[in-house]
Amino acid sequence: LIRNNYDRYYQYYEDALSDQSQFRNYILTHIERAAYNQDLQVYYQGVVDTNTKLPCGAEALIRWQDPQYGMIYPNKFIPVLEKANLIHIVDLFVIKQVCKDYAQAQNEHKPFYPVSVNLSRQDFFIPHFYDDIIALVKTYHVPLKMLNLEVTERMMSSHNKVIFDTLHKLQDYGFEIWMDDFGSEYSSLNMMSQFHFDVIKLDMNFMRNFKSGNHSRNIISSIVALTKTMGGKTLSEGVEEEGQYAFLKSIGCDMIQGYYFFKPQPKNVFFKGGNTI
Ligand code: C2E
Ligand code: MG
Ligand code: MG
Ligand code: MG
Repeated sequence: LIRNNYDRYYQYYEDALSDQSQFRNYILTHIERAAYNQDLQVYYQGVVDTNTKLPCGAEALIRWQDPQYGMIYPNKFIPVLEKANLIHIVDLFVIKQVCKDYAQAQNEHKPFYPVSVNLSRQDFFIPHFYDDIIALVKTYHVPLKMLNLEVTERMMSSHNKVIFDTLHKLQDYGFEIWMDDFGSEYSSLNMMSQFHFDVIKLDMNFMRNFKSGNHSRNIISSIVALTKTMGGKTLSEGVEEEGQYAFLKSIGCDMIQGYYFFKPQPKNVFFKGGNTI
């Protein structure tokens, strides 16, 4: 019974809370089924070589096509799974699907690109996670250069030994380790000195601030130069306009990802859409 604004507010608040917990509950109880039913789908977003403007890779991005909720984006369900320590289900699903897609492309004599996948912090504390990745690339005969592993500075900022040791092991084994969302946190430069990343992905916010002038452009070119000095490559995320592309080309940023070139697409669209090498 709603008598006044105060009650109205609490009714609204409680409804929102129960919607949220219903959603969370749905995610947690349906994740296994979604993986099994192929309601989880791997989308691919092309990455282009800055100099040639041709695709040179792709990022695998998870989508959940749900019968009840429709398309659920990762920003909605990944935090829920991370909190419940279930995110490795998604991450291993994605790695497996990428390996399968690679194997299928091989069978059909179709081109494929190196694909980067996103890892979560919790993955590193799943005892079989390292072995599972190795087993998958072996099973599907995926060359190690075809699968890059993305981690964020946020997950490394605790300087956890298990994370660093596992990343070193994976890199020694032959995988490239990419740093995602570089510059979105406060300890980016520190992180760069702690681990040699093969590729630094500049956070989308740099492109958002790009228009605001020289100050942000100077920061972008400094990061690109610094990464080069340290023997790494740079990729800029969130590139949506020609002007951003032209600037990144002029400062020697190696790779570009963003709607200006490609949006995330289902496998059959990305790989059969004429995006041949
Ligand atoms: P991310 O790894 O930084 O991926 C880039 C995100 O930016 C993607 O959002 C992509 O669709 C979006 N994007 C790409 N180009 C542009 C652009 O030009 N403009 C704008 N505005 N956006 C662009 P998405 O697919 O919604 O994924 C969001 C985040 O969810 C990812 O950020 C990543 O952190 C996480 N994620 C996605 N898939 C997985 C996964 O399989 N496992 C884990 N652990 N995390 C994932
Ligand atoms: Mg990423
Ligand atoms: Mg990113
Ligand atoms: Mg991001």
